[in-house]
Amino acid sequence: MASKYQAPRGTFDVLPDAARGRARIEGAAAAIFARAGYEPIATPAFEDTELFERGVGRSTDIVRKEMFSFEDKGERSLTLRPEGTAPICRAYLEHGMHKLAQPVKLSYLGPFFRHERPQAGRYRQFHQLGLECIGTDSPLADAEAIMLLSDLLGELGVPGVQLRLGSLGSLDARRAYLEELKAHLHAHESELSADVRERIDINPLRAFDSDDEGTRDVMASAPTIVASLAGEDAEHFAAVRGLLDAAGVGYEVDPTLVRGLDYYTRTIFSFVCDALGAQSEIGGGGRYDGLIEQLGGPPTPAVGWAAGIERILLALDETEEAPGRDAFVAIADENQRQRAMALAVELRHAGLSAELDLAGRGLKGQLKHANRIGARRVLILETDGSAQLRDMESGEQRAADPGNLVDEMTGGES
Ligand code: AMP
Repeated sequence: MASKYQAPRGTFDVLPDAARGRARIEGAAAAIFARAGYEPIATPAFEDTELFERGVGRSTDIVRKEMFSFEDKGERSLTLRPEGTAPICRAYLEHGMHKLAQPVKLSYLGPFFRHERPQAGRYRQFHQLGLECIGTDSPLADAEAIMLLSDLLGELGVPGVQLRLGSLGSLDARRAYLEELKAHLHAHESELSADVRERIDINPLRAFDSDDEGTRDVMASAPTIVASLAGEDAEHFAAVRGLLDAAGVGYEVDPTLVRGLDYYTRTIFSFVCDALGAQSEIGGGGRYDGLIEQLGGPPTPAVGWAAGIERILLALDETEEAPGRDAFVAIADENQRQRAMALAVELRHAGLSAELDLAGRGLKGQLKHANRIGARRVLILETDGSAQLRDMESGEQRAADPGNLVDEMTGGES
């Protein structure tokens, strides 16, 4: 009977079938991170609200509209983390990681929270995995980060992935460019959507993301930062592209690429997958050379990305088969209960997956259940202490040595 309680809007339960697909993604990511030396880090699910206001930026949609914030009993404002980079930078400073050999390479995985309008691929609690490479401005770090996400999506077999690449320039260049962009937007104010118009001076870059037709026309003639990159910014972007070219990673330079967080400088990138429809981004990130200083630390360049686990699952659109079991221990008589339990435990200790009946079924019911859970072999413990071994695929059954059942199961097929 269904209860009147349901998972809150925009959240979902991960049922066992879905959990298997997730485990594969998480396992592949963990292996890729480990091979490249990105050590795991975990930060709390909530932080001081101010961290995100300063880190992510007060003008962003995330901070203006999407944070799950609450007051604790000490009247401090806390927020369920909407993203992972600001918390990791906080941890980097709090634990003195700036004193370690640089760069510090970290990876993470966990739930994040944004009060967005729920739809396919967009939830209020979702899961990201990602990495941060903190303490270097080398284009090698940008290229390595991008290649690791490219590798992960390739290894998982995500179809139709495209990489979009852009650069926002250094903080100064970005500031100068934003003035130029604002001037362009002001000159065309009457053609812009109300939403974009209201935010010209707060967050002009978001105009590139607008679906509004009038705004899109205005943006088609807007100056782009990629075109105005100069000096070291231009060299940095060229170096990142050169490294990707040399590694055979395909990409498209997208001068209109923007991201929903304020902290990006220089390289930004986005992996999209057409199969995903409106929420087409699987993962993305970029360089954030000013963030750590913004949070009170020393000037520290860094780069990172995050990918959405739900989006990867949607793009893969496959369900992972249940793994089956190596063995099921059945009993012909209740007096074999203890022996069955001991045997199942022994089989598990020997590395096999083994189950026994926990529901008081008769022998016929146990065999049916063994079949249902995909048990490959069933050991039947008889009333008189003897045992039978049944191969569920062929249906063949034979007597087994009751003193040697674990060996029978671990040593080759019967
Ligand atoms: P962001 O932190 O906004 O750069 O997003 C990084 C990745 O997280 C995106 O590419 C998505 O895959 C995923 N993501 C962001 N917001 C959501 C959401 N509300 N629901 C599901 N996935 C999300």
